[in-house]
Amino acid sequence: MTTPDKSGHFGEFGGRYMPETLMTLHEDLERLFQSAKKDASFKKEFQFLLKDYAGRPTNLYFASRLSGHFKTLKIYFKREDLLHTGAHKINNTLGQVLLAKRMKKKRIIAETGAGQHGVATATAAALMGLKCDVYMGEEDIERQSLNVFRMRLLGAKVIPVSSGSKTLKDAMNEAIRDWVTNVESTFYIIGSVAGAHPYPEMVRYFQAVIGQEARKQFMIKEKKLPDYLLACVGGGSNAMGLFHPFFKDKTVKMIGVEAAGLGLNSEEHAAPLAKGSIGVLHGSKSDLLQTKDGQIKVAHSIAAGLDYPGVGPEHSYYKSIKRAEYVSVKDQEALSGLKLLSQIEGIIPALETSHAIAYLEKLARRVKRKSSVIVCLSGRGDKDMGSIEKLIS
Ligand SMILES: *Cc1c(COP(=O)(O)O)cnc(C)c1O
Repeated sequence: MTTPDKSGHFGEFGGRYMPETLMTLHEDLERLFQSAKKDASFKKEFQFLLKDYAGRPTNLYFASRLSGHFKTLKIYFKREDLLHTGAHKINNTLGQVLLAKRMKKKRIIAETGAGQHGVATATAAALMGLKCDVYMGEEDIERQSLNVFRMRLLGAKVIPVSSGSKTLKDAMNEAIRDWVTNVESTFYIIGSVAGAHPYPEMVRYFQAVIGQEARKQFMIKEKKLPDYLLACVGGGSNAMGLFHPFFKDKTVKMIGVEAAGLGLNSEEHAAPLAKGSIGVLHGSKSDLLQTKDGQIKVAHSIAAGLDYPGVGPEHSYYKSIKRAEYVSVKDQEALSGLKLLSQIEGIIPALETSHAIAYLEKLARRVKRKSSVIVCLSGRGDKDMGSIEKLIS
């Protein structure tokens, strides 16, 4: 399996590129995470919450009408959209909030872009009776007012960030700053497989339940392994959660779908694996959207959850060793994917997820013989209805 080395590297990616003041914090967290993983009572509590609170295991659903539509594909959906709060993010926030409790922290902080991670964090914090402050760019607060309201209703404080582009990466900078100043009391919950070691490994550990369940469920239904795994990639946590348990299954091909926004040749996209270069962001080395002199660019996607200029280091590693392939899908194609799944299966997916669905059409044309595919249905579309109402007729 791809366990990072002692310095937290997956190949040349990942690591811990941090000022001295933050090193011990990450080391403490790593120690605690490693001991929690071996502790039966921790696992039991995590599994209890996943099952009775969040609603696991999620279904592996055979989409017969959509499969009939594409003819060359046998399509299964891993239904993370059915989880409490509507997406896979709750798997990770429940895991991390349990770690916070073990560290006897009284306060949780998080960064959020679209607000989905903020909502999942505020939910987990409420459940544990912990104080919760969420950093969010002013730009995003305006775009995602419903999620801001949800977080407040859940008892969290939403702190506006007015620096930089006033979006996710700036919120993450502020959260890191807060963490340095309030180490004693505070636990920082990162929302994807990004950040400095041990975050990418830790978030993947909590999300790997997606692939572990899917692998078992598929084996029971089909008596073999799937030909393809397909998932959208923002920071990369739902994709890595699905991919990782299949790492050693060499016949299983993995495809991650980035957001091509208005097109890969425009500056308006969020596809660092396709169009980025290697650099360091938020303490970790991976593919990034940056200028020649290393300034981080602003990412764009119709799906706010894919709108991040970096990507988890383990994806950069999978790309470099060719274990996974990364493709991209434009805003308009994602909208078509959303419409298609809604009308053919009666499932309204999140805009993020719609990128993976849109790629099915291209995959259907690529395959030489009838092939099976598990798609991670990372979240439901309720949150997006306001923003796409005007775009779809
Ligand atoms: C946040 C989000 C994503 C993107 O995050 P990853 O870490 O790449 O999984 C994808 N789908 C949904 C529904 C989301 O809310």
